[in-house]
Amino acid sequence: MSVRHSGIGMTSQRTRLRMIERLRAQGIADEVVLTIMGAVPRHIFVEEALASRAYEDVALPINYGQTISNPWVVARMSELLRANASLTKVLEIGTGCGYQTAILAQIAKKVYSIERIGPLLTRTRIRLQELQIRNIHLKHADGMLGLAEAGPFDGIIITAVTAHVPTPLLEQLEVGGRMVLPKGTQKQNLCVIERTAQGYVETVLEEVNFVPLLAGVVKK
Ligand code: SAH
Repeated sequence: MSVRHSGIGMTSQRTRLRMIERLRAQGIADEVVLTIMGAVPRHIFVEEALASRAYEDVALPINYGQTISNPWVVARMSELLRANASLTKVLEIGTGCGYQTAILAQIAKKVYSIERIGPLLTRTRIRLQELQIRNIHLKHADGMLGLAEAGPFDGIIITAVTAHVPTPLLEQLEVGGRMVLPKGTQKQNLCVIERTAQGYVETVLEEVNFVPLLAGVVKK
């Protein structure tokens, strides 16, 4: 274990348990998600200078103008995606610092995650390797195109906001599968889109605040 991992030591374990209590009080009911979030060291995913704030109920900067979603958002999206059942194959758009990816790796057999900012993904790749998470496949690409060669997926999660869901992502959702994303323009809401044999069924939920889903890739 590196100095960084052990540095905050027991404090972070206690702080993490306080975060779990807070999430429960905020209405997160899926005990599987709460248990996983109680075990994943969130402070590893932010810059060292911000590590002491990692368990607060805030989004924090992760460089390149992006943010790590606040704990409630991660918990809520995870419980909506899971819907009380484990998943087989999940696609995540917007890897960012990889915190949500690390949670997904424990609720799905296999996770594919796409990030458009190359240097951000490079750092995240190292971090997730250090945590020895092996059932994830990271890709530097424009997530709006999805990942047809690995689909269809029983779960798709988008961690950046869009006004319209890109068609390839709708197509790559399995019948019976579920997509969770923030959707909107001025006002954003979490949405669940379920694909049924008859078509897509959308449910609009809590108001949220995400950075935008953007086309194309950033190389350096
Ligand atoms: N789950 C991440 C969220 C990061 S913010 C975390 O908690 O760290 C949203 C991320 O989506 C950013 O890293 C941004 O670069 C990425 N993103 C935006 N548009 C994208 C696209 N079209 N394809 C892939 N990633 C995208």
